[in-house]
Amino acid sequence: MITENRSTPPASRHVNDYVDTHCHLFWETFSDDLPDVIARAREAGVRQMLIPATDFATFEQAAEIADRFEGIFLAAGIHPHDAGELPPDFIDRLRMLAQHPRVAAIGEIGLDYYYDFTAPHVQHRVLNAQLELAKELDLPVILHNRDSDEDLLAIVREHQDGTLNGQFHCFSSGAEYALRVLETGFHISFTGNVTFKKSRLDPVLSLVPDDRLLIETDAPFMTPVPWRGKRNEPSYIPRIAERYAEARHQSVEHIAAVTSTNARRLFALPSPENTSDHHE
Ligand SMILES: [Zn+2]
Ligand SMILES: [Zn+2]
Repeated sequence: MITENRSTPPASRHVNDYVDTHCHLFWETFSDDLPDVIARAREAGVRQMLIPATDFATFEQAAEIADRFEGIFLAAGIHPHDAGELPPDFIDRLRMLAQHPRVAAIGEIGLDYYYDFTAPHVQHRVLNAQLELAKELDLPVILHNRDSDEDLLAIVREHQDGTLNGQFHCFSSGAEYALRVLETGFHISFTGNVTFKKSRLDPVLSLVPDDRLLIETDAPFMTPVPWRGKRNEPSYIPRIAERYAEARHQSVEHIAAVTSTNARRLFALPSPENTSDHHE
């Protein structure tokens, strides 16, 4: 007969503490099992998650998720894909949404020249206005960049007067560009893209200083190997952290510590709740 020996705690699996700084949990693909997705994230150590909206409707959906679960934070913003048909008062509406107590950033905003959903000059106008709003509200920004390296950096530089900060999310450009991004004071984060066989991101990963490095899934997109082809979710963050650790010749524990510290500093997140943390 096996008796419980209370003097010996169960063998504990060490779980690192992570912040997934970019996951779109409002996507329909999560609607059936969101509580399980969030439970798996917490088991993997991902205790805080930031959901960037892409427009007004997705902000409302993200805010509902933040009402239901602890550790969920929000960004209010208009994605370049959705910048085409905005009401004239869109900045006033964003300013109001940003009053939500879980809003940590203006995002995701930026430029996307890969898809031509919105003309570049319209994307510029919408981005400029949102960068000004971020400065007015003293919030960091979450930047989306697809095939728009030079224009995006030029616009950020125009607005950078020392008060603007933020994240170049899903970084996929080269080392030389990363160095110029770092000169603006911004942070850089990568997704499952660093696990892809064809990834040339290791040299970029290794040049980002510890205090500018963030981590994200961009779920449900950019699923890391070996789950490529499936839906991405925040519980895959440790896999991305492993690749960070390999490329940077640092321990996974170190990656977890610096990316979490940076995320909490940049987005002014509170210390994570201990109540939802029952690791065994
Ligand atoms: Zn994006
Ligand atoms: Zn995104």
